Amino acid sequence: MPAPTPRVEIDLGKIEANARTIAGLCRKAGVNDVIGVTKGALAHPGVARAMLRGGVSGLAESRLENLARLREAGFHVPLTLLRLPSLSQVGEVVRLADRSLNSEPETLRALSRAAAAAGRRHGVTLMVELGDRREGMSPEEVVAAARLVAELPGLELVGVGTNLTCYGAVIPSPTNLGRLVEIAEEVGRATGRPVPVVSGGNSSSLPLAVAGRIPRGITELRVGDAILRGHESAHGELVPGAHDDTFTVVAEVIEVRQKPSLPEGELGRDAFWNVPTFVDRGVRRRAILALGRQDVAPENLAPLDRGMIVLGASSDHLLVDVDEAADPVRLGDEVRFRPNYAGILQAMTSPYVHKVERSGAGGERR
Ligand SMILES: *Cc1c(COP(=O)(O)O)cnc(C)c1O
Repeated sequence: MPAPTPRVEIDLGKIEANARTIAGLCRKAGVNDVIGVTKGALAHPGVARAMLRGGVSGLAESRLENLARLREAGFHVPLTLLRLPSLSQVGEVVRLADRSLNSEPETLRALSRAAAAAGRRHGVTLMVELGDRREGMSPEEVVAAARLVAELPGLELVGVGTNLTCYGAVIPSPTNLGRLVEIAEEVGRATGRPVPVVSGGNSSSLPLAVAGRIPRGITELRVGDAILRGHESAHGELVPGAHDDTFTVVAEVIEVRQKPSLPEGELGRDAFWNVPTFVDRGVRRRAILALGRQDVAPENLAPLDRGMIVLGASSDHLLVDVDEAADPVRLGDEVRFRPNYAGILQAMTSPYVHKVERSGAGGERR
């Protein structure tokens, strides 16, 4: 039976291979732990399992719903909450996560109360803001926060960490990551206990590891994009030996006709209230696919057939110029696309897109 459309095909064998490649090159660079970040795939259990088979030492997520999904799937590895906990959700946080990343003393106190009430100790990584201007306290505040964590009965200081290349696009360097290692040492001296984990960022820290320039003392990276898609996110390059053909979006042709490139009539705004622009390529063969912005934004999809051009989309129609397609496109055909990170996230989030696991040669599970 043919697989349903629209669908996203997930190559678990390649995701596993990417995890193995990245965990291996991190270990070689002195970084012992890679935490597999599953949020790009909404904690799809098959993806999480592939990451673990490839050798990541734990899993991390931004959302409690996804942590619950991992718990329900029966994973018994350490689970980290990446997004700072909401004050209103501390009970769920200590129930679902072994550890969370934190920057607010008030949240730490609330987490401690919730953990103590549940008879647990919750692990804390203190986030330090080193230039990217997203989450984290300033370096001067970390020692006081570490002392607070040491005093709170429900908490245990697991580490210090930073996050770069997310808001400010700041690239990890021996300088900013070296500063994080110094901060960990200061905290160790102040509390009398060495800080076990120094968490040096996300996929954008991989080029440093590859180049052998990651500072000694960084013990952990939290990696999603590079495992899911093979690309580091500092320069957007393929990690040596990694695969980028891991996710494929497939949609079906519901109309194929010759049409002029330019609209005819008085122009207003499109379905999303944008003022569109058009390139006049003359009369062209154009396909409409059963996929839309409610599934994946068209700018996040690259056709595997290089002769095709994505023209645009409304909520549920994707328009593709197929005039120069390598193979002639007919009604009912399937067209295949490579999604970028945002495209993977959107396809995995859309309830209309079927998720189909593939594990290498021919194998298919749903
Ligand atoms: C998303 C996220 C990561 C993983 O980022 P990738 O670019 O997917 O590797 C790591 N840390 C935090 C805090 C995150 O929010």
